[in-house]
Amino acid sequence: MKLHVLGVSGPFPESNGATSGYLAEAGDTLLQLDFGSGVLARLTALMPPESLTAILLSHWHYDHTADLTVLLYRLAAAGKTLQVFAPADPSSPIREIVAAAPCFRLTDVSPGDVLSLGSCTVRVGEARHPVPAVGYRIESEGRTLGYTGDTNTLPSLESFFRGSSLLLADGLFPSENWAENLPHLSAALAADLASACGAGQLVLTHLNPVFEPRMLLREAQSRHPNVSLAVPGTTLDV
Ligand SMILES: [Zn+2]
Ligand SMILES: [Zn+2]
Repeated sequence: MKLHVLGVSGPFPESNGATSGYLAEAGDTLLQLDFGSGVLARLTALMPPESLTAILLSHWHYDHTADLTVLLYRLAAAGKTLQVFAPADPSSPIREIVAAAPCFRLTDVSPGDVLSLGSCTVRVGEARHPVPAVGYRIESEGRTLGYTGDTNTLPSLESFFRGSSLLLADGLFPSENWAENLPHLSAALAADLASACGAGQLVLTHLNPVFEPRMLLREAQSRHPNVSLAVPGTTLDV
């Protein structure tokens, strides 16, 4: 399985950047995780977006969904439809747009759901965020990609992501800026999670342009042996 990193920023992009968006490729199965601002152009550079197997959304915040509103023009022009899986969130204007667009087939997901998409088994897990949010665990041919989406600490994360080959985790805060009631993990806590669940590799993402990424990396590296920062335009082996 490969992970193509398209957008890593949140909640807004850096110069020439993009917010959350990652493509998991397992043979012919192409699963797009989140679809933030700037992601459509980067995905189009890799492949025609209408050939995706499905789109999996962690939640409906705009930094994870903004480009769906433009993707629908491309799908309409191509006469194609795409499956979208996401937690139900009646408060989201973008969800209303996606639910009403004929080019999307929207399915609500909840923690505990198991989806069979192409050659992949996709499990849906909990997340702790101010709106309904989930994480995903994608399994294919003995490899496992974990994606936390946006979350702060939660007891179920450790068992849900246990044995991940690669854990792509929200590591937004430096330790000194993190607090229990905020919507994101710190880089250090993401590393603690990766260690606790035995992840082979930790990739820190949801990088806020306000914080210095090298500091996040340093803090995480002191708690897990194999940490990197998500870099747009790179492809990782899972
Ligand atoms: Zn976000
Ligand atoms: Zn969010």
